[in-house]
Amino acid sequence: MLEELFRNNREWADAVKARDPEFFQKLAQQQTPQFLWIGCADSRVPANEIMGLLPGEVFVHRNVANLVVHTDMNCLSVLQYAVDVLKVKHILVTGHYGCGGVKAALEDQEFGLIDNWLRHIKDIYRLYESEFQGLDAQQRFDQLCELNVVEQVANVCHTTIIQNAWKRGQDVSVHGFIFSIEDGILRDLGVHFNAVNQLPPIYRMMPKKSAP
Ligand SMILES: [Zn+2]
Repeated sequence: MLEELFRNNREWADAVKARDPEFFQKLAQQQTPQFLWIGCADSRVPANEIMGLLPGEVFVHRNVANLVVHTDMNCLSVLQYAVDVLKVKHILVTGHYGCGGVKAALEDQEFGLIDNWLRHIKDIYRLYESEFQGLDAQQRFDQLCELNVVEQVANVCHTTIIQNAWKRGQDVSVHGFIFSIEDGILRDLGVHFNAVNQLPPIYRMMPKKSAP
């Protein structure tokens, strides 16, 4: 089974080189991706394939249910490197319908350590509780998958990393997308941010006070 992976890899590398003999030499020089993808770890939602992008074109962070948690050093480090060093232009927070993490958060079954991670999604449900009234189970599930993206986009925007980039005048936008495994289509949720004045005042950070 593992041998097959190496065989597949050789075939893939040969096919890429057949199209562009210099591809890997150029790739080894540098990466200049325009996009940072923050998506779910789900094996059915691979960033490059879905968007038809080659290696080198998208910087990727994935975790269960595409969460951006204010104290997650892993996600924050990816975000900081992508914004400050790689200078990506677009941050694509991408959820997906049928997300197992969101489903688990809607239920009361215990899965172990991961329940602590999924608690962030329960918090979102509580925040928007009134919007779920009158919906059936499937609609609630879809709605929470979407609202989870909206909230994670907000979480990206509330970081010091994005707000400092905007203060510097850096051109970086944050978007919320959702992918449907059933038809393979990526949809824009219409959530876009590229300036600090689009945020609720409580989350806006003013420039540091200078010494008198
Ligand atoms: Zn998922």
